[in-house]
Amino acid sequence: ATPTAIMVGTGRGAQSGILVKSAEALETAHSVKTVVLDKTGTVTKGAPSVTDVVAAPGVGEERLLEAAVSVEGKSEHPLARAVVEHARARGAHPLIVEGFSQVPGEGVEALVDDRPTIAGNLRMMEARGVDAGDLAQAARRFADEGKTPLFFAQDGRVLGVIAVADTVKPTSAAALRELAAMGVRTVMLTGDNERTAAAIQREVGADEVVAGVLPEGKEREIRRLAEKGAVAMVGDGINDAPALARADVGIAIGAGTDIAIESADVVLMRSDLMDVPAAIQLSRATMRTIK
Ligand code: ADP
Ligand code: MG
Repeated sequence: ATPTAIMVGTGRGAQSGILVKSAEALETAHSVKTVVLDKTGTVTKGAPSVTDVVAAPGVGEERLLEAAVSVEGKSEHPLARAVVEHARARGAHPLIVEGFSQVPGEGVEALVDDRPTIAGNLRMMEARGVDAGDLAQAARRFADEGKTPLFFAQDGRVLGVIAVADTVKPTSAAALRELAAMGVRTVMLTGDNERTAAAIQREVGADEVVAGVLPEGKEREIRRLAEKGAVAMVGDGINDAPALARADVGIAIGAGTDIAIESADVVLMRSDLMDVPAAIQLSRATMRTIK
């Protein structure tokens, strides 16, 4: 496009809260075949809250919440924050926590009053040889409702499941419909489990979903999808930064983390997914002015 067309396009974008950082991004966006979206904080609000608490047979809810508030109190994950807030509201107090560590894509572990305690997904329980028993079925039901089930275990025995739900942003479904109408494929990426991801996919109508993606896996998915044409990646988190940098067009949610914003070519100041199709339309209009 001519410098004038670029200037006009960039200005028009800025007026509607679409900050285009490079002329190249404004030119490339018109040819995007696939838009990849992170789930938590991008398609959903990223402010989860606890919906269900199920203690294992013979385990009191108090004991479950006490273990949960202890181990999750050391985690900065949004899921952990939801659990801590809920447990505190129920009067649970943290015990002594030592040796806290995170297991990427699975959860967290620590010694709580000297007892080995873990919190995470079913994969984590299986990896540690914890039998979830009937709670696995309860967890599947929660996941089918779009909730994320978190398992808690101590001394190798399951204590219970806490389900956490995040709401889809009001314009996510409309934005994905608009992209489909423009002939653009949509793919949702998440570290969350298959069932929860599928429930959210149904709710917003994404063409494809890739669940259980480890932090370094997002960039790999972008490279895979790039074989079929130009890819735009939309994300908000630290985890998304490598994928945002790798994509032909990286689009950051304005309310997201600084690292995501720095890694992106385009920033959506209104944090509204409707501005994704709008950015592609802006690029299409910009490119048309030179033909
Ligand atoms: P995402 O940010 O997409 O959820 P993560 O890699 O951070 O991806 O987490 C993947 C999964 O690991 C979560 O969906 C959850 O099941 C589990 N997990 C991560 N952190 C915690 C935690 N602090 N407590 C319990 N489970 C966790
Ligand atoms: Mg996110």
